[in-house]
Amino acid sequence: MPERVAFLGLGAIGAPMARHLASSPAFPTTLWNRTAAKAEALARSTTPAAGTEPTRVASSPADAARGARFVVLCLPSSREVESLLDGPQGLLAGLERGALVIDCTSGDPATSRRIAARLADREVAFIDAPVSGGVAGAEKGTLAVMCGGEARDVERARPVLETFGGKIVHCGPVGAGDALKSVNNAFLAVHIWAAAEGLAALEKAGVRADVALDVINASSGRSNTSMNLFPERVLTRAFPRTFRLALLDKDVGIAAGVAREQGVPAPLLQLTAELFRMAHLALGEEADHVEAARVVEAWAGVEIGGDSNMRNEA
Ligand code: NDP
Repeated sequence: MPERVAFLGLGAIGAPMARHLASSPAFPTTLWNRTAAKAEALARSTTPAAGTEPTRVASSPADAARGARFVVLCLPSSREVESLLDGPQGLLAGLERGALVIDCTSGDPATSRRIAARLADREVAFIDAPVSGGVAGAEKGTLAVMCGGEARDVERARPVLETFGGKIVHCGPVGAGDALKSVNNAFLAVHIWAAAEGLAALEKAGVRADVALDVINASSGRSNTSMNLFPERVLTRAFPRTFRLALLDKDVGIAAGVAREQGVPAPLLQLTAELFRMAHLALGEEADHVEAARVVEAWAGVEIGGDSNMRNEA
């Protein structure tokens, strides 16, 4: 009897992850989303593999969890995950003994540990399993998945994670995946801010951003930000909305908190957390993470890659 998987949270990255799951021959799938129309549309547009039961749309988190051996979540933060647990329609009302909750939210370690303890009281296992690779990686099914929890639970989750993941790593106990993900994203934030400051300064010094990136990307300062994000999103002025700045703000805040909890002096992480909080407040809930560069541009009075920049040719 194939094991049913429930997937809750069909946002920018959750939707393509859930689409892979629902198309997999291994798992009959149940979808739930706060805005139900997204779950219904995804179920309609996904063809389950031959011989698999049709994708079901659940009316509540409890309804989604009923009959599922695995419950995958992909929500903005651990706060939303925790808020789905309680009440007559909450996850705890539907979860069955022996089920495994796989939280793909980029969460915070302390809340994940608290959720895991509450689930353990009901004999339900929990792993944190945040992902990296962006919407493009989710669409290709090549996400990196960083797991925190018992090794046996990570192994049990592996076939589910393999439907959308290309690299699945057990990182340590519950919360380890969240901690690692937050530090990864803090690197991303540092790179974006540093690239924006450096390229704005170069523009004003008379060096065009495309020329600068051509050299930097053949030199020691290169990163995913310089090689992909700025050429594709800033210099083109396209700024596609794939990963909200609000979420990166949350992630850097988690990383700064992890450093503080561990007694590690981390002035750069704390400063980056403040900068991304300011950018989030300035640009709002829907801005993309790379749009943080716009804040630097406004302060500098220059557009990175802009044709109309008055360069100091001296
Ligand atoms: P989105 O903001 O696009 O989607 C959020 C999802 O959570 C939506 O399905 C939304 O429902 C749901 N949601 C929001 N608040 C609540 C709530 N209170 N109760 C129930 N459901 C709620 O986020 P993403 O898909 O981009 O991100 C999801 C997670 O993945 C985040 O932790 C993010 O940091 C992480 N991530 C995202 C990446 C990306 O490239 N986008 C890359 C790697 C990790 P509704 O449709 O009703 O609004």
